[in-house]
Parts: sequence; C-alpha cells; structure tokens
Amino acid sequence: MDAAVFFSLFNGYSLAYDDIIFLPNYVDFGVADVSLVTKVTTSLSLSLPFISSPMDTVTESGLAIALALEGGLGIIHYNMSPERQAEEIAKVKRYKNGFIAEPYTLSPHHTIEDAVELNRKYGYTTIPITEDGSPHGLLISLLTKFDYSLQYGLHKGKKVQERMRPIEDIPVARHGDITENGELLLQKANLILLDKRGIALPVVDDKGCLEYLVTRTDVEKSEAYPCASLDAKRQLLVGAAVETQPSAYDRIAKLVAAGVDVIIFDTSQGYSSYEVQLIKDMKQNHPDIQVIAGNVVTGEATRALITAGADAIRIGMGIGSICTTQEVCGAGRGQASAVYECAAVAKKYGVPVIADGGISQISHITKALGLGASCVMMGSLFACTDEAPGEVMYEGGVKFKKYRGMASPEALALGGSKRYSIEKERFRVPEGVPGKVVSRGSIHSWVPILAAGVKQGMQKLGAKAIIDLHCLVSSGAIRIERRSEGAKHEGGVHDIS
Ligand code: IMP
Repeated sequence: MDAAVFFSLFNGYSLAYDDIIFLPNYVDFGVADVSLVTKVTTSLSLSLPFISSPMDTVTESGLAIALALEGGLGIIHYNMSPERQAEEIAKVKRYKNGFIAEPYTLSPHHTIEDAVELNRKYGYTTIPITEDGSPHGLLISLLTKFDYSLQYGLHKGKKVQERMRPIEDIPVARHGDITENGELLLQKANLILLDKRGIALPVVDDKGCLEYLVTRTDVEKSEAYPCASLDAKRQLLVGAAVETQPSAYDRIAKLVAAGVDVIIFDTSQGYSSYEVQLIKDMKQNHPDIQVIAGNVVTGEATRALITAGADAIRIGMGIGSICTTQEVCGAGRGQASAVYECAAVAKKYGVPVIADGGISQISHITKALGLGASCVMMGSLFACTDEAPGEVMYEGGVKFKKYRGMASPEALALGGSKRYSIEKERFRVPEGVPGKVVSRGSIHSWVPILAAGVKQGMQKLGAKAIIDLHCLVSSGAIRIERRSEGAKHEGGVHDIS
C-alpha cells in the first residue's frame, strides 16, 4: 500500500519499526552501486547516515573522532562542565588524520611498570618520553615495546631512562618539515617514517616540545578513511548537545569558540517555548553554526521548531533501548509513526530529519530512512564499541560495555536531569535505566557492517541513494504493509534448534 494511504489508515495507532515492512521493488543494480551519502542538516552532508547519541556512555571525543573518520557524526554529551565539553570538541577538531594530538607520555623518571600499565589500559605500545611526562613537554626520547620486558623479571623496577632509546636513534620531525601551505601532511610524515625505518615519528615545535605522534600503524590505517566527515578546513566534523535552559548560552559560547559544527538542543520534550526561543537566539548569535532541534514526535512540533530556525529535526520520544519515559509519563509515540509524520512535514521546508533511538537491528535503519529520515541517531549500537566511554565488563567470558540512559539514576545525578527538566524537583523519577551491551569491537570494524547491511536493504528496495528511497516511498513505488504477529514470527529466525 502507498505509504500516505497506509499511515492515514493507521491514524490513531502508534506503529513501531517492527510493525511495518517495505515490499521489495524492481532492481537493476548491485549492492555496490548503493550510496549512503546524505544530509544531516540543511547545509551539512555526510557519507554515512549515522549519528551517535549525546550520552555519557556513548559519545566523547574518542568515539566522535572514530565515527567522523568513517563518515558519520558524533555528538558530545553535556554531562560535564562547559569547559570540559569544549575541550572534547577541541580534541576532535585538533585531530589530524593519523596525527595523535594527545599522545600518552611518560617522563624518564617513571618506571617500566608504568609503561606496562599504560599499555595494558590503553593498548599503546610506543610512548614518547618528555622531560616532565606531559603530552606537550620537551621531547627526550621514545620507549617502544621492544625496549623492555618484564618476563623473568628482566627490567622490573627499572626507570624509563634506563631503557628508553637514545634520541639520536629515533626519527623526529620538526613541524615545518612535514607542512605544506600551513597544512600538516601525513604523506610527508609517512615518507620520513619509511625512509628512517621508524616505528613512530614524534613531531616537535621549534622549542623541541612534542606536538603530535605519528605511528607507523596509524599512517597505514589513516589513508583508509576517504569518506571522513570534514569541514571546509579539512578538520573532522563534530556536534555537541546542550540543555534547553538559560545556562546553555554560556555553554554554546565556549563550544563555538572550540570549533563545534553542530549544536543539538537536547531535551526529551522539545516542543516548548524554551526551545523555540533558544533556536531563535542561536540563529541570531551564531548564524554559521547548524542547529538540530528536538526531540519531537508530531507534525505540529516539527513545524514549530523549523519555523523558529532549526536546520534539522530529531525525532523520538520514549523508544530508546534504555528508556522508560512512556512507562513513567504515558507520553511518547511509536517511532515508525513519528518518523513518517515528522519527515513529511519537514520535507515541505527542505529540512532533514534524524530518527533517534529504538534502532536495535540494521533493518530498523533502513526502515527509518524509508520513512523519510535522512540520518539515524543510535545509542546502544554505538555504546557497544571500543571507542565508547562506557566501562568494559566481562560476564561468563563475554565482553560487555556499560550503557545507561541519561535519565537513569546515576546519569541524572551527573547532570542528565537537565535533559528531563527535573533538576530542581524534590523527587526525580528516573525515565531511564542502566544496563550493558555486548561488545562489538572497534567502530572501524562495526560501522562498515552497519553500512553494508543498510546498502543490502536499499538494494532490495531498488533505491540507489537515500534521496531515491525517499522519492520511491512517497511516490508509492515502494509499498508498505503492516506485519501481523504471524508475519513477525515468520520474519525472524524460527523453528530451529
Ligand atoms: P537507543 O539507540 O535505542 O539506545 O536510544 C538512544 C536514544 O535514547 C538517545 O539518543 C536519546 O534520545 C534517548 N535517551 C537517552 N537516555 C535516555 C533515558 O534515560 N530515557 C529516555 N530516553 C533516553
């Protein structure tokens, strides 16, 4: 059935992604021909339609860098001071493909055990040694995994200075050696590394202080990100979430100074006079910064935020995997109904929409895009990666990562209550829960899997691009049906042991 007719028939029903199915369409191209290039706001494009949730177990600079390298966008959460959030933004903006701006360093007076601990905690085996041990101190040397061993107690209790390499034995580049027209060039660093047989290349300023570290493995890998999300200065794109309260003005000023590209007004109920005013002020004070507004689930709320000046709309209420808003408040909406209605309204204004939350399978992404979203925002499907800040846990030999709602009791205490407008209340009823998700490894191996699955889905629907998918659904060329309980059973794995 034509999507418009379908949703008018189900007017009054809250439909979830699992309640609907698209019928396959005529196909005359392969999966490799499908492009996932999309708009995230009216003026920013991405190679992949994936955005990470601004949650304290999902997005800080590490994940934002990795996701932007892959072609998506990370949104740094605001359960932290404005200063720290601005520093997280600055880390992403300072990140140069392959240039590590904040390397883990030690001083000559640290011990070999300290080096082993850094290695164990963060996995880094090549450690620049600076005079005071700080990341941008005077470079003294380099300690690599070949320089020490604790086997048989060999270097037990020894100082780093006894085992670090003599500085003459390591290649070091001055900033100017690898710069062209003011831009650091990875290729130049690569040539020095290869020529000097280096494991890593410290880059120093005129005073000999460490600026960056380039490692051989990173150089090899970094040329593998041709789809990275970049701004006009070829720095990675990054977004930041802010509260919909007067304190946001100060936070926004700091984030803008740090180079943020996108501000998200982050509240569970965005259809409010507060948010409308904030959007207007933001567009007036910082016209160059893109604004994503939300969260909303109805056409009238979408219209209100767009006419206030929003550059994209975020959709979803009460459907996140860690969310209890619908149970506590009795408010929210099935995500398929919400995305379809909001996207239809936003389309009239040429404003993209982002389907936020409730994505637990790859098919949900394809359905969200088919219903009119230009991007999806995901929490649980990114909290499971190595780059997410949540702690690692093991249970029964399985690796998990902590994931919690921003309205879970722990996150509320750290500032999440602002998102739910309950920070001044005497009793705060949590609208989210803490939990854990099975680890999926690095963003760099996980995101390509998500992208490949979406491409397979779009190919079955005969859509070579997200914009084509939107047109095919709205023209009725791709039809939609309601899944019966039997169809849901049949569509999953069944009757095997
Ligand atoms: P997920 O992708 O299904 O895990 O949902 C993530 C989304 O849930 C986020 O982007 C937020 O919009 C929303 N969210 C985050 N924390 C909470 C919470 O504690 N309660 C309700 N919704 C939440």
